[in-house]
Amino acid sequence: MTEDAERKMRFLFALRSQGVTDARVLSAMERIDRGAFVTGLFAERAYDDTPLPISCGQTISQPSVVGLMTQALEVTPRDKVLEVGTGSGYQAAVLSLLARRVYTVDRHRRLVREAEARFAALGLANITAIVGDGSRGLPDQAPFDRILVTAAAEDPPGPLLAQLREGGIMIVPVGQSDTVQSLIKVRRGPDGFDYEELRPVRFVPLIEGLGQD
Ligand code: SAM
Repeated sequence: MTEDAERKMRFLFALRSQGVTDARVLSAMERIDRGAFVTGLFAERAYDDTPLPISCGQTISQPSVVGLMTQALEVTPRDKVLEVGTGSGYQAAVLSLLARRVYTVDRHRRLVREAEARFAALGLANITAIVGDGSRGLPDQAPFDRILVTAAAEDPPGPLLAQLREGGIMIVPVGQSDTVQSLIKVRRGPDGFDYEELRPVRFVPLIEGLGQD
């Protein structure tokens, strides 16, 4: 087996052992090379199951957390998905193989530009990356079938709840920024919202307004 194939096998094994069992999610994560989303010093750790630093003092999330969040989102090929927190673009790229269309928003212009270049290089044509304050959602594109928030909010943001279609699902880490947070699954039913606590997680905070770079 080549070194590359062995690395990929270890990567998928780590995902499965952490509870990522959905075949479509595993196949999307096998196809999107995390190595294309990590640069510089940390590139050689791209296949480790660990978060890594990216530009603007942010992080690319741990692969097993990406897998578990994607799995919990129950994305179907008809879905229009909003991701809040583009970061490196890795999560949006994985979602793009599962959904009809992905909108991804980050408050840092530099991250959005870098992610757009990666999407273009990989030929991922169904992702739109936007600079903005994702805590307000994207009213012009709403409603969304699925919403994935990859930064921690103190509560599920009201504008995002309002932009979730009936029957839709939102996954959001909730809690104070420097403590352990809870990953919450929100379902919008005909009579309101249903909240389920999935697992403890640790994310950078969701910050209102735009970043400097
Ligand atoms: N999903 C990313 C990936 O696949 O690399 C990792 C996201 S990183 C953990 C969190 C991201 O949320 C950061 O890039 C940060 O700039 C962004 N963020 C924080 N607050 C935000 C806000 N209000 N609107 C949009 N993005 C925000």
